[in-house]
Parts: sequence; structure tokens; C-alpha cells
Amino acid sequence: MRRIGLLGGMSWHSSIEYYTKINAAVAERLGGHHSAQILLDSCNFSEIRDLQIAEDWAGADAALTATAQRLKDGGADAVAIATNLMHKCAPAIEETVDVPLIHMVDSIATMAHERGYSTMAVLGTRWTMLDGFYTDRLEARGIATLVPDEATCLDVDQIIWDELTQGKFTDASRARYVEIMNDLKARGADAVTLSCTEIGLLVPPETAPLPAIDSVDAHVAAIVEWMMAEELIPL
Ligand code: GLU
Repeated sequence: MRRIGLLGGMSWHSSIEYYTKINAAVAERLGGHHSAQILLDSCNFSEIRDLQIAEDWAGADAALTATAQRLKDGGADAVAIATNLMHKCAPAIEETVDVPLIHMVDSIATMAHERGYSTMAVLGTRWTMLDGFYTDRLEARGIATLVPDEATCLDVDQIIWDELTQGKFTDASRARYVEIMNDLKARGADAVTLSCTEIGLLVPPETAPLPAIDSVDAHVAAIVEWMMAEELIPL
């Protein structure tokens, strides 16, 4: 089994899910007392949040690149960024840290193809929905994407920062997200990707009004596949 290095703490409420789900998948495959070889570098999210608010993406690149390097130096065979948004920093990590990166968007595209989804609504932070770095990569992998109008994107975004990444999950926000999912379904989405790692804690994929992929589940599946593969999977 290879050792995965997780860039976590963004937020810790979803990093726990990664830790639990990766271990559960390895235990299910190998049985007994088998568990996953994981290095978790859990940041103080407030520092990253300040960089996001300032849209200081160069500063974020520097912070996450340093984290990935620490994980590599600690013995990680590959790294995974345990958040959708901070895949903005994936190119910088891939360029500067000599370790493979298991990319969240690619794992979602793989799962979408396996399930036969072709047009996916994307819900996440406003940068994930609107900046192109995320949806362009899905489109390049053959998945058409739909996002809410800009005002609705800001609503989705605000709930993430005011509530979900602080571990608050309310019925009102759940109802609002379901309403937005229904709108996207009416606009032609055949499925939705929960492209913020805390959304699945608010609206579990099986309760969504259309077929849904939780980005954590897709990413965990790709991570475990890579950890357990007999032959090294080229990334
Ligand atoms: N966890 C969220 C995501 O998956 C947002 C928090 C962050 O990455 O900073 O995009």
C-alpha cells in the first residue's frame, strides 16, 4: 500500500470525512486490522481564509506548495488537496513539488463517466463555480457543466463560509440548496456534483433531488485506487 499525504484542515469538518472514508475503504478491501497509511497536514484554516478573501492566490500557492513539500519530505508517495477550491493551487504544486497529485476534478469526471452523467450542475464556492479553473477541467474531460446565475452562486458561497466550513448545518440552508438543485435540474442537469467538501454534510448525495456525486467520495475512490493499485497508476 502506498502512503497518501493529505493537505487538510480546509475545513477540518470535511478532513475528518477523508480520514474516515479512506480508512474504511482500505479496511473493506483488506479486512482485519488493515487501515490506511495517511499523512495529514491540517492547517490553521483562518490563515488560508485570509488569503482567499484577499484573492491572494500567489500567497495560497506558496502556502500549499510548502505543505505539499512537507508531506513529501515526511514520506508521502502522492498528495491530495482535500478541498475543491484549493485545487486552484494544484498547478503550482505539480510544478514545484516532485510528487504526484491526485486531482479532485479528474476523480469526479471518472465517476461521472462510470455513472453515465453527461451534464453536471456544479455547486461549490463562487470561485469553484465561476472562475473556470474547475469547470473547464470537467468540460475538457467530456462533462458539460451548469452553474447557477451569479446572484445564486453568491448565496451558495455565503452559506459555505458563514455556516458549512464552521460546522453549522441548518434546515433552512439545506432547503435552499435543494431548491437550487431543483432549478439546475429543470435547466437540464442530469446530475449534480457537490463540489465543496462540506456540502455532502448538509445534503447527503442520496437525499439530493437529482443524482449526485459527493466530491469527497469521488476523490477518496481515486485516492484508494491509487494507494492499492498493483502497478503504479500514472497521474
Ligand atoms: N471545502 C471547500 C471546498 O471544497 C471550501 C473551503 C476551502 O477550500 O477553502 O471547496
